[in-house]
Formats: sequence, structure tokens, C-alpha cells
Amino acid sequence: MNRIKNELHISVAGIRGIYPEFLTSEIVFNFGVVFGSYIKTKKIFVCCDTRTSSLSLKDSIITGLLCTGKDVVDLGIAPTPEMGYIIEKVETGNAAGAVITGSHNPQEYNGIKFFSERGTFLNATEMQKLLDIYYKRSFTVSKEPGYLYSGKYTERYFNGIFRTVDVERIKKRKFKVVVDVCQGVGAVRTENFLKEMGCEVIVINKEPHGIFSHNPEPLSENLTALSETVIREKANIGFAQDTDCDRLSFTCENGHIPGEELVVALTTRDILEYHKKGDIVVNLSTTSLIEDIAKNAGVYVYRTKIGEINVVEKMKELGAVIGGEGNGGVIFPDVHYGRDSFIGMALILEYMAYREREISEIIEEMPVYVLLKRKVEVSDKRMAAEIVEKIKKAASEKEQMNLEDGIKIIRQDGWVHIRPSGTEPIVRIYVEGKSKEIAEKYLSEFISLISS
Ligand code: MG
Repeated sequence: MNRIKNELHISVAGIRGIYPEFLTSEIVFNFGVVFGSYIKTKKIFVCCDTRTSSLSLKDSIITGLLCTGKDVVDLGIAPTPEMGYIIEKVETGNAAGAVITGSHNPQEYNGIKFFSERGTFLNATEMQKLLDIYYKRSFTVSKEPGYLYSGKYTERYFNGIFRTVDVERIKKRKFKVVVDVCQGVGAVRTENFLKEMGCEVIVINKEPHGIFSHNPEPLSENLTALSETVIREKANIGFAQDTDCDRLSFTCENGHIPGEELVVALTTRDILEYHKKGDIVVNLSTTSLIEDIAKNAGVYVYRTKIGEINVVEKMKELGAVIGGEGNGGVIFPDVHYGRDSFIGMALILEYMAYREREISEIIEEMPVYVLLKRKVEVSDKRMAAEIVEKIKKAASEKEQMNLEDGIKIIRQDGWVHIRPSGTEPIVRIYVEGKSKEIAEKYLSEFISLISS
């Protein structure tokens, strides 16, 4: 048994664990009480993904929140970005939120994501305050429990996206689209979303029962069935969402799987070429393709530590026009400040519509980068941090470095980013080169340095 699985991960990045061995109903109830004690708004939205444990864990967190006197709006099974949109753009400061989801993790996992009244995830400082309440048990229970309501906001959310893209132009193309929702929340949203943009839609793994046909992380190795279906159906493009719909990947009409890094790249091109020029914010591990795209448009790229909230806070500070994380998480602030696969699909379709090219032709005209992502398991989180310190000490002063989040070494023909995971006892290594040979050369150089 993999030792990484044998834990409940509680950190500033969020809460995650296997249900019911490590993430229990009691823990989720407690976090309901803790979050209700921490957050100042009277109203809190709650939703969940399709996992078999999600509906019951949603009830647990709702009960905890009601105990603190908060009023809860239950959205049922709903996408994480939909909740972000509602809090930021509909409630505008009057509500906060909690999502029960294991996100991109395998089906035995579940977890909690917390939204502040700004409609974005709690940042590290806020999350630490929440955890202080949890560990010190300094929560408050109200004599008068709150009220429970149910809510439906999907139409407003979709319209929020449709207002920012050229839906008429997309409709004219009558795209045929395959989407792999992997038995996740997309199963209750995505078909309608794409049909409203005039697409002919084929959904695979469409039952919303949370028993996943494949690993739900939208990585290329999990997109084989999607690619085959796109070819068989002669579709224009195939999309894949993770189970709570914040991350996206895609396959081309010819079956090619370009990789999730291309999502932010393509959407950035769409915004810079057809919406507006402005600066871009991505995390340190995102492909260098973004710099090439920015350079062509005469704008700048700013890089942040890993984690959606870090990207979001920098985007707000700079007034960036688009941003995100290379793992398939695009953030378009005209709709809301959160990673959103629905926005990703709309912007990619819009770009295809404007360019009047097949998606494979659009991909072919872009510079090629090979980004390899690996993880090295170690005995505990402290050891992961020690290994990264060791790499920092071993690095020559002549190297161009960034030490904001682990160590990123930037060379002429590629870069290496090594950091300890915030939640698991692993060291993450990202390597990018202008060819497979360069990327593999850097990967083996640093893997052997880690193992030495
Ligand atoms: Mg997710």
C-alpha cells in the first residue's frame, strides 16, 4: 500500500484524504463548525462533486455550519468555478463557500475547498487562521442554528461566461465536440453549456455517479478514450474536465493530445489577439510558451508560487488580463478570479472560430516545448524540504535561479523547477526543454542529484 495514501492531509493548501479511513464525516462536520466560526458573512454556499462519499460529507459540513448560526445555501452537485462565480459576481461580499470535492484525485479521495467572501480560495494566512481554530478548538456554537436553503444559479453563471465571448461566432461554426466528464460534475453541466454555444455534443463517461472510468486528472495519459472518440466521431475537438471542473485538457481533431499546458497558452492567445492586450500571470511551473506568446503581443509575464490563490492575488494586483496554471487551469477575470474549465472551453472554441483553422493546425504553428512532470516519494514532508535545500546548496552561483517556491533553475534551452509538495511527502520536479532530449537530459541530471 502506498504510504502517501495513509494520511489525512491538512495544510494551507486545503483538506484532502481517503474516505472514510482518514477523511471522516466527523472531521468534515468539525470543519463546518470551524469555518462557520471563522467566516464573518451570515450566508455560506455549499456544493459537492459526484463522488460516492460527497453527498453525505456535504450534509456533514452543512450541519456544522448551521450549528454556528450560519444560513446555508445548498447548490447540490455543482462545479467549483460556478461557486466562485456566484460568490464573487452575484453575492459580491455577502457570502462565503465550501466545496466537498476530491478535485483531480482518484475516486477514493475526498476533500474540502474553502472560499472567502471575495469568491476566491482562502490564502495561506487565512487558511492558517482557520487551522488555528481547528487545532485549538476555539470555535463557537450558536444557540440559534441557521436556516438551510437550496439554490440554482447555473443560468446566471453560464450567462456570465457567454457575455464575455463571441457566442454568435462560435455558433456559426457548428462545432462537433466530444467531452470526457469522467463521471464528475461535468456530467450535470457540460452538455448543456456546449449546446448553448451551438455545438453538437458527444459526452463520454457521462453518468454522474462518481465511479470514475479512469484517473480523473486531465493528464495526456488519461485522455486516450477521448482521443479515439474524437477520431471516430470526426469531431472538431475533444475536451476533458477534472471532477470539479476547474481543470481542462483537450485533444485535436486528428487525435493528437497536445497536453494540458496548451490550455492556458491557447486561451492567452485568444485574449491577446481578439479581446485586449495586457499582462499575464502564471505560476513558476507553467510552460515557457507563455513568454513567447506574450513577447509577440508586447506584454509581460509575471510568475508566482504554485497555487491558484497565489496566481489570483498577483493578477488582481497587476490587473492582468488573463492567467492561470499550466495544469489546465485558466483564469479569466472578466468572468471571475478562479480556474475555470468552462471558460477554457469557451475561449478555445472562440479562438478556433475566429482563426477558421483546425485545432491541430493552430497547435502546429506554436513553438514546441517538452515539459516533463515527475514526483519522488520520500519518507516525510521534512525530508522533502531538506532535499530541496540540498539542491539549492549544490546549485552553482552562475545559474540563473528563482527561489520563491523551491528552486527554479533557468538555462538557455530550458528550465528545472524542484519543490516540496505542500500536502504530501513528495518532491515535485518539473523540467522543460525545447526538445525531448534536452528535457530528459535535465530530468536525469536532477533526479540523480536528488537521489545522491
Ligand atoms: Mg479540480
